Amino acid sequence: MVASQTYPLESAPLTGVAKITTTRHCWMQCRFCDFSQFIPVLFDTKIPPCLPLADAKSRLATMPDSVGLIKIRGGLSFREPFTYFRSLVRTVADGFNGPIQAFSPIEINQWHRVEQRPVRELLSELKWAGATGLGPGGSEILVQSWRDRLSPHRIEATAWTTLAQLGWDTGLPPSAMVLAGQWLSAADIKSHLQILSAYSWHHIEVKMFRSVALQPELEPMHILSLCHLVAETRELLNDTPIYVNEPPGGISHDARIMLTQAGADGFYTTLEAIEP
Ligand code: SF4
Repeated sequence: MVASQTYPLESAPLTGVAKITTTRHCWMQCRFCDFSQFIPVLFDTKIPPCLPLADAKSRLATMPDSVGLIKIRGGLSFREPFTYFRSLVRTVADGFNGPIQAFSPIEINQWHRVEQRPVRELLSELKWAGATGLGPGGSEILVQSWRDRLSPHRIEATAWTTLAQLGWDTGLPPSAMVLAGQWLSAADIKSHLQILSAYSWHHIEVKMFRSVALQPELEPMHILSLCHLVAETRELLNDTPIYVNEPPGGISHDARIMLTQAGADGFYTTLEAIEP
């Protein structure tokens, strides 16, 4: 009788996430993002305000106990001042004892530019309000040609990493993203990982790209390509924890096991979505 190979049946741990979205509108116009909308220029066109603090508070009160991480994110709005975002973090921290990943270098840059306030001061105030780390942003690929093609209004890749690294100085460890999409070339992925490996990150999130109506050709990755991507990330980023961001609805147990074998340290699955 031939001895059978036994495969591990356990996957790395799953963390339940509550995602708080301040607004689903963003002027940045990244071509792949369904938040991407211009600030209207016509006189009577309105963009709804960001999530009211009272709504965030009441929704947090009914959040499942199994939530282990809160992510606060949003599109970029010119309307609300920084104090609104700081108060939102404070509201969340008042009702939740776990880690709170608040915003990303893109938002920090916007507040810095619009309100002319020093970056370190903004970061310190987010920390004071209760944030525990900086988020990886929405699909930040640090290959400048890729940014120029699909997100031409973003800050340059080097500016993004510089801002993110300032988080270490203020007690907001930064995280970064590896985007999983078949349409990214192997060379782009390699360059992105090489840039990431030159810096220090609290953790890396692998985000499965979901195609949007605007760009139907931007397909998500095959599971084997995804495993390869996680293994490549593990090889270049050594001891940095890697979390796979699951798409809406989650992924299968088998897929989690395969990704764990490839080097994933955990999975983030969304349990609650709080939006305006
Ligand atoms: S990816 Fe981020 S910055 Fe770009 S349009 Fe979407 S929300 Fe705005």
